[in-house]
Amino acid sequence: MSWFKRTDKGIQTPTEMKREAPDGLWYQCPTCKKAMHTREHKLNAFTCINCNYHEKIGSEAYFQILFDEGEYTELDENLRSGDPLKFTDTKSYVDRVRATEKKSGLKDAARTAYGKMSEIDIVITCMDFSFIGGSMGSVVGEKIARGIECALQHKIPFLMISKSGGARMMEAGFSLMQMAKTSARLAQLSEAGIPYVSLLTDPTTGGVTASYAMLGDFNISEPEALIGFAGPRVIKETIGKELPKGFQTAEFVLDHGFLDFIVDRKDLKDKLASLLGMLR
Ligand SMILES: [Zn+2]
Repeated sequence: MSWFKRTDKGIQTPTEMKREAPDGLWYQCPTCKKAMHTREHKLNAFTCINCNYHEKIGSEAYFQILFDEGEYTELDENLRSGDPLKFTDTKSYVDRVRATEKKSGLKDAARTAYGKMSEIDIVITCMDFSFIGGSMGSVVGEKIARGIECALQHKIPFLMISKSGGARMMEAGFSLMQMAKTSARLAQLSEAGIPYVSLLTDPTTGGVTASYAMLGDFNISEPEALIGFAGPRVIKETIGKELPKGFQTAEFVLDHGFLDFIVDRKDLKDKLASLLGMLR
């Protein structure tokens, strides 16, 4: 029965002749390792259909999920970073920014847009981790401040979606000033009685946690997001003690009173709409 037994030895197919599924057709969950169709994964708001792992996504994906029909108007899209400190580490800051722009297709680590979410007018600023670790520099701070200004002018709610490693080292003090600037603008929003919801996604750390991300009328998070200020190693060395289990996860932070609730990304739009509906 040679037709099901391989009789010819050494059959080899050169790599370029091998037929494979086109790139990007399948998504493999990094947690449970199950594969699913990318279309199915996208329809599921980029969460795993098996274990509910929330894949890290950028501003465009969040805008598509939240704005009705994915339609929005972007604000200050051409705002770009300067190099006030003429900073150089392994390469110059200017070169790093240009290289990241090219790789990510983004101009900086945050984008602001307005539009309708379940027919409610809203301004959303969303951070992009793919741009220098979602670091908060002058452009990020300015975009947030201007987004808040837009919400203030039109008296519509503001949603901030954070995903950041913290302040941008290459802008040093200028980055830190963004904490004060955004916080001051948020205080104006609060005085005007306009709702501000802060969504913390994986990861939200450093100066971002220490400023606008924790200043929401509602501070909410996606499941299992890493939320903290300093990293666990630094804290462990400082306090000289083992850290509790689940330290710096959204669930731990919720249990300790720093979050209002955790929301599954698939329910995000509906929950935000009913929350804002109640505040109107
Ligand atoms: Zn999974």
